[in-house]
Formats: sequence, C-alpha cells, structure tokens
Amino acid sequence: MLHVFKFGGASVKDAPAVRNVADIVAHFNNEHRIVIIVSAMGKTTNALEEVVDAYYYQKGNAADLLNQIKEQHLSVSRELFGHDFHPVFTLIEQAFATVAQRFNHPPSTAYSYEYDQIVSLGELVATLIVSDYLNECRMGVEWLDARRLLRTDNTYREGQINWKESAKRVLSVLPKMLDNSKIIITQGFMGGTIEGFTTTLGREGSDYTAAVFANLLDADAMTVWKDVPGILSADPRIVDNAVLIPVLSYYEAIEMTYYGAHVIHPKTIKPVQNKNIPLYVRSFVKPTENGTIVQAQLPEGTVLPPVVVIKKNQLLLSVQSNDFSFVAEENLSNIYQLFAQHRIKTNLTQNAAISFSACIDNTPNRITELLDELAENYTVHKNEGLELITIRHYTPEAIAQHTQNREILLEQKSRHTIQMVVK
Ligand code: ASP
Ligand code: MG
Repeated sequence: MLHVFKFGGASVKDAPAVRNVADIVAHFNNEHRIVIIVSAMGKTTNALEEVVDAYYYQKGNAADLLNQIKEQHLSVSRELFGHDFHPVFTLIEQAFATVAQRFNHPPSTAYSYEYDQIVSLGELVATLIVSDYLNECRMGVEWLDARRLLRTDNTYREGQINWKESAKRVLSVLPKMLDNSKIIITQGFMGGTIEGFTTTLGREGSDYTAAVFANLLDADAMTVWKDVPGILSADPRIVDNAVLIPVLSYYEAIEMTYYGAHVIHPKTIKPVQNKNIPLYVRSFVKPTENGTIVQAQLPEGTVLPPVVVIKKNQLLLSVQSNDFSFVAEENLSNIYQLFAQHRIKTNLTQNAAISFSACIDNTPNRITELLDELAENYTVHKNEGLELITIRHYTPEAIAQHTQNREILLEQKSRHTIQMVVK
C-alpha cells in the first residue's frame, strides 16, 4: 500500500510538533510505503514574503529579517537534535546563505521570479529538518528536491505543472526507492522550470503537491494531517455549530473548497479524483480519530448538514456601460478578458441590462490595474468591506443564522447552494 502524507505548516511549527510527526509516521511505517510532503514551518512563508518585499522594494533590512528566520530554524533543530554538530546545521546554513547572496545584487524587475527563488526556502529547510529528524529516529528517509521532480512552466507564483515531464521524473526515481522500503520526503508548494529556476504553485499549494504525487504514483490513499478533526461544516473559529463531516464526495469537496473553505486547497481534488484515490483529512493532534474521507460517492442516504463558507474582505464591483449599450455577450467577454488578464478571480457574478456585478477578494495591490482599465470604457462603482456567504444544502434556519441583522446586497440561489454578498 502506497500512502501520500501531507504535513502543513502548523504540524511542523516547532520541535514538539516535529516529534509528533515522527510518531505518526512511525505508526504507519510498517504497513505502508510512504511519501511525505511538508510545508514551511509555522508562519515561515509569511515571514519570507516580508524578506522579499524588503529586498525588492528596499523597505527594510532583508538580511536581518532572513537572519531571524534562520535563527528560528536553528533553534528548533537544536531542540530536536540536542546539540548543534549534526550535519543538518550545515545544510540549513548553506540554504540560507544561497538566498542571502541574492541581496548583494539589485533584484531583477520580475517580482514574482524573485519571490519564488526566496520564498521556497521555507519548504527546503523544513524538509531538511524533518527528514534528518526522522532518520535520527531510524526511519530510513530519503530527502528529494521537488524542483527536480515537478516540472512547471514559468508562471512564477502560480507555476503550472507539466504533467508529462513530471511523470517521467517522478516515475524514474520514486518507485525504486519505495521498493527499497525508503520513506520519501519532499517539499510541497514548489517545482522547477526547464532552465532550473524555482517556481511556487500558489499560497497553500502543498496540498496540491501531495495530490500531484498521489496521482503520478497511483497511490492507494492520500492523507492531509491538519490541526482540525477533519472537514467541518464551517470554520469553527467563525461559526459555533460547525460539525465534522465523516464522508464527502469529490464533487462536494471541490465545490466547498472552490467557494473558499480553507481546509484544503481547491486544486487538490482533481488529481486524486482522476485516479479515484481516497483523500483523508485527519487531525495530527488526535491521529487515532477517523477524520473525513473524501471519495467518489456519498454512501446511500447520506444527508449533508448545511455547509457554510464565509469569505471576508470582499469587494463588490458594479460595472456599467457608459453609452447605455447592453452589457451582454460582447461587453461581457471584454470585461471577463480583463479579469483573466489580471488574474483576478470572480467569486460571484451577476448581470443586468446595462451593468455587471462581480464580487472579488479585496486585494488593493492586485486589482488597481484592472480597475483602471475597466474605467476606460465603463463606469465602475466599488462597495468595500463585505462578506460573501455561501451555504450548500441550505436550510431556512441556516440562512437566518448567518444573515441576521445584515444587509444583503446581492443573492444567488440554486437548488443546492445559496450565495449572498452581505454588509
Ligand atoms: N508554505 C506555503 C504557504 O504557506 C505552502 C503551504 O503551506 O501549502 O502558503
Ligand atoms: Mg501553510
């Protein structure tokens, strides 16, 4: 049995967390061949984004910020290994030095390229530490560099997997190692271009990496280890009557993650669905509990609870034609083309005779150019500070619970799903 495990940032955030990961892997090691995908430790990716900004926009001391991140990794390692003459310390120093060297030169003009070369460091050092620690626990782990396995195009920060090339690489290396009863560990969230540059796959992309490996290797199962008990009917930090959903279909899972449920990355579902690989979402805090299984079909008679997804910090754009021309096929295709060009995803859209409304994430630095270009041909109004509430399998009670004392600006309803933009 071949099992792909994904451990996210929270599951490796400090030394006790890494020890817990080792316990989980040890528990499954006898019955499974295991491929482990690891994300950057804790909030490292956010911290590295600050390093990129400091370097690129010269708004802070990039070297100092990087040093703080290095110290955190060294300190976790000291706690894990009990001393600092283990070879992992040299590897960590080298990995950080490679990034620090960049600061001797001004950045290129390509922000996203610089971002990927720097931010990928988080996954690199996390896997070095976890891998050496598992070996310290005598688990026979092989560390692999995901940049040599997953080939992507040159869309920095959103690298697109080249499936054919990646399959070639993965299949020429991993099966043999797994047959020699090695546990394999590699980085989530990153790949490499044909020129050997590093790409990242989009924030929170490690789940997707795990699904890509599961697909390429025809794994028997994939498990995402989380700090929640499984997939819940809502985010328990926002909604107090959230319940665990024990079984979910790929279809339900892709819908709810697409609407913004944060539990797994939306791109994770397709690669496992395509090979009919069961996807488990389980708690690394209580690893003996079952969590959620995502599979092809819901068992007969399953009634899903209302599933609530709340997206905060939304912006409602209203785009109106200036000359009273209908906002129909032609205008709409122009408008959508602008959204696509600027890589802005619409979370909800609706159109009327001479206007088009779109609810989008309010990320000022990404949408200014889009707004400017729209304004060339249309009158654009913005309404900020909104939330987008999506309820699948809605009930009158669930709608009432989430709209009480709120103003609904826009609403869309199908048989299974209601979406509301509220103030
Ligand atoms: N470390 C990356 C991030 O925080 C990727 C991931 O966690 O999946 O976005
Ligand atoms: Mg993360």
